[in-house]
Amino acid sequence: MNYLDWLKTLPKSDAEYATAPCPTCLASCGLKYQYFGFADSEFGWKLVWCAMCQTGIQVSRVRIPHGAPAISDTVEQQRFIEEVGPLKLIF
Ligand SMILES: [Zn+2]
Repeated sequence: MNYLDWLKTLPKSDAEYATAPCPTCLASCGLKYQYFGFADSEFGWKLVWCAMCQTGIQVSRVRIPHGAPAISDTVEQQRFIEEVGPLKLIF
């Protein structure tokens, strides 16, 4: 399972993540995601991961949907990523 495989299996809409199976371990408990932004930009990146096997990907240059919570502060970004725990990121 490489990066593109993961990317291709991601749901089209954020609402579907909660029921999307993990492409790696096939756990059906849904995928987690979080947007990360930059000040004064509608673009950012998105972290997607599975809470069961802690596998995930970073999707760069995504448009952050209006109203979606995005973390822009670098200290808070770091804190969030630490709370998620060590991820096996696929590049
Ligand atoms: Zn998984």
